[in-house]
Amino acid sequence: MAAELIEGGPIADGIKEKVRADIQALGRAPKLVGVLASDNPGAKYYAKSQEKACGEVGIEYALHELDPNSSQADLESHIAGINADASITGVILLVPVPDGVDARQVQQAIAPDKDVEGVHPANIGKLFYGDFSLPPCTAHAVVAMLEHANVDLKGKETVVIGHSEIVGKPTVVMLLQSLMESPTVTCCHIATADLAFHTQRAEVLIVAAGKAGLVTGDMVKEGAVVIDVGINRIRVKVDGKKKTKIVGDVEFEAAREKASLITPVPGGVGLVTTAMLLRNTVESARRQA
Ligand code: NAD
Repeated sequence: MAAELIEGGPIADGIKEKVRADIQALGRAPKLVGVLASDNPGAKYYAKSQEKACGEVGIEYALHELDPNSSQADLESHIAGINADASITGVILLVPVPDGVDARQVQQAIAPDKDVEGVHPANIGKLFYGDFSLPPCTAHAVVAMLEHANVDLKGKETVVIGHSEIVGKPTVVMLLQSLMESPTVTCCHIATADLAFHTQRAEVLIVAAGKAGLVTGDMVKEGAVVIDVGINRIRVKVDGKKKTKIVGDVEFEAAREKASLITPVPGGVGLVTTAMLLRNTVESARRQA
């Protein structure tokens, strides 16, 4: 039987509802700033979609467009100005950054309380101690989707594919949140020798590799819960014309035949990640109030 979907839309709506209520309780609209030092159309599009999402819940948004040739020092000094500006409660560094600029170093210059992406070492470090007040948005979205679907994780064989700082690693740490109720987590990555060996025994499978079709139907265990984080743009032919299609890392139709629950792409983790960004923006503002 085909798996049930864990759809991102209703979960994201619930988070946004809470964000609106939290802003009311705060008595002041948070202000999020996107810092962009690039002409990249994708980054500009991403900034527009952030602005729209903020507008839906009553968060003020401003885009600070810097010279695409900005240096490390230019970006860090701009961030220092934002840190000192009490009217700005949150900041996002949009990528790509100019050649020669170390994005991670710029992110680390952001005041931890304004780090709405939850990527500053002070916020990432807290995850180790079970403090999830400003976690990375996508890892938080994955955990929230499992919770929403009432997946009992205790002792479950759980495999995470991907070990990036922003998605894979924090997801592993967040899954291990309670010593007593944790799943048994395996983290696979590019150097994993036999990926199928791990995925075929996964009762919960979380895929965040950025490779379309990486997980095929035969790699999924019967009855597994599958969370597909991947977002890949592929070219497909529709009626003889080439079109761009967004797909995840999992072969959706084949995996759906094996799994018990599965997230769609698009319409899954991405929507919840955006909602988590709004949630973090309010949490940042609350910290500074
Ligand atoms: P990344 O490139 O930083 O990391 C990719 C990870 O996948 C690495 O740990 C790498 O070792 C692993 N990997 C790559 N190829 C592999 C293979 N063949 N076998 C096993 N492991 C492999 O990417 P990221 O930033 O962690 O993002 C991963 C994916 O998630 C991307 O598609 C990205 O677009 C997507 N993403 C989605 C959301 C969302 O909201 N849905 C948010 C962030 C990222």
